[in-house]
Amino acid sequence: MKQYTHFIAGTFTAETDAQIDSVDPATGRVWCRISRGNAADADRAMRAADSAFRAGEWAELTASGRADVLERLADYLETHWQQLVEAEMRDNGKRITEVRGQFSGLHMWYRHFAAEARKLGPEPQSNRIAGVESETQFLPYGVVVAITPWNSPLMILAWKLGPALAAGNTVVVKPSELASASTLEFASLAHEAGLPTGVLNVVTGYGHEVGEALVRHPLTRKVTFTGSDAGGRKVAAAAAEGVVPATLELGGKSPQVVFSDAERANAVNGVLSGIFLSNGQTCVAGSRLIVEAPIAGSFVAHLLERARALRFGDPMDPATQVGPLANEAHLRKVTAIIEQAKAQGARCLLDGTRTAAGRVGFYLGPTIFTDVTPKMQLWREEVFGPVLAVTSFDDECQAIALANDSDYGLAGGVWTSDIDKGRRVANAINAGTVYINHYRSVDPGSPIGGMKRSGYGRELGPDAVKDFLQDKSVWTGRAAVADPFPEPV
Ligand code: NAD
Repeated sequence: MKQYTHFIAGTFTAETDAQIDSVDPATGRVWCRISRGNAADADRAMRAADSAFRAGEWAELTASGRADVLERLADYLETHWQQLVEAEMRDNGKRITEVRGQFSGLHMWYRHFAAEARKLGPEPQSNRIAGVESETQFLPYGVVVAITPWNSPLMILAWKLGPALAAGNTVVVKPSELASASTLEFASLAHEAGLPTGVLNVVTGYGHEVGEALVRHPLTRKVTFTGSDAGGRKVAAAAAEGVVPATLELGGKSPQVVFSDAERANAVNGVLSGIFLSNGQTCVAGSRLIVEAPIAGSFVAHLLERARALRFGDPMDPATQVGPLANEAHLRKVTAIIEQAKAQGARCLLDGTRTAAGRVGFYLGPTIFTDVTPKMQLWREEVFGPVLAVTSFDDECQAIALANDSDYGLAGGVWTSDIDKGRRVANAINAGTVYINHYRSVDPGSPIGGMKRSGYGRELGPDAVKDFLQDKSVWTGRAAVADPFPEPV
């Protein structure tokens, strides 16, 4: 069986035998073991990253020198991405078609941030003071701690690592204890591709054991976290104690508003992809369907027909449309939410616990509830699984009120053939990303992140690298300095 250890200063290493089993969700069997890190491991990784930062081989490389290294990494990924696929699938059960789709494009994120690095440099500023020049410098923080979840470890890592490295920081990554293997494989590959030793380090283990030790470490200068809002709150509190800035990408309960005039086939495809791709285990899952009353019955019937026809199977099989959930505890959690929704009076039109019954592995099928009211937990809490909560509306104002009736604000969708109405509703939805007649795209040029309980700070977009830089003003006098205490005349 494969055994993974931490990756620190360019070497796979562990100082204790403590391990965590990683279970393949398609079979329910342990497929690899990873090191169970502790505060001493966190300290070793932080020191390695700090030495690499202070040695200057990275931060003091010119920005275009770092861009060259990131481009080499992108080239290497473009030819070697296939060797990362199995590790991620065995850990989180994501379907091979999705993982291939993400990984064949991984190089693109690093290329983008290489190009962004080339734009960096001090900026001269104009000022009101005679004989003095001023400029703003943009400096890396030092060691960045990047904490990632299990659903898309390497893609989410690219959104953190690309800009953090472009800015000249060094990084310690703490992947999810449930899906660490692909990050470890990636770190080794990045090292082979020429990333200097100590610039990227990975420690594995539980959040409360090693994750928190990293956030609280005295050498930590910035934290970037993606995960649940419960985890995010703890990380933000720990970071605040050390006055360390943190970016939080948290969960969501995203609405999809479908008007009667929506192009039906597009809207059905958009709602299906929003909630059932990756079995709903995506932060932007469109888990609340808010559909205009006159079409609600026929729209949901259409969705049901499509959802029922989705093929369960082994995630390694390209024909599979619904794979397992990522782990057993998560399956139990989602199943409990489904049972609770039934008990609270929601009407279950498609019950994924039944369609998946008897399967080996952590399978759960698409699940659709109607008659969901905003008081129900299913409306309010993130499920992070293939469970759609449906309600209907009578007019635009009510649709907006329902869409915003959530503590979260990560994403949303609007489906209508009236683009003016679409924009009006999109503008009124309190979320970091809203799609009109479209769902789910991400691109380096567009920021992503949440409002309300979905977090703060943004990833990607025009300021992605700036988020990993500190501004510093430098003033240079070119004229005589006036006596500050002149004699009165
Ligand atoms: P999680 O919060 O349980 O864990 C995320 C990471 O945080 C893991 O590496 C975990 O070990 C670590 N962690 C947990 N507690 C910690 C602590 N006290 N200190 C330091 N680290 C700690 O989340 P998860 O179950 O792995 O991921 C699913 C969640 O991630 C969902 O809520 C989902 O919406 C969210 N997510 C958000 C985005 C986004 O971009 N907004 C993207 C993907 C996933």
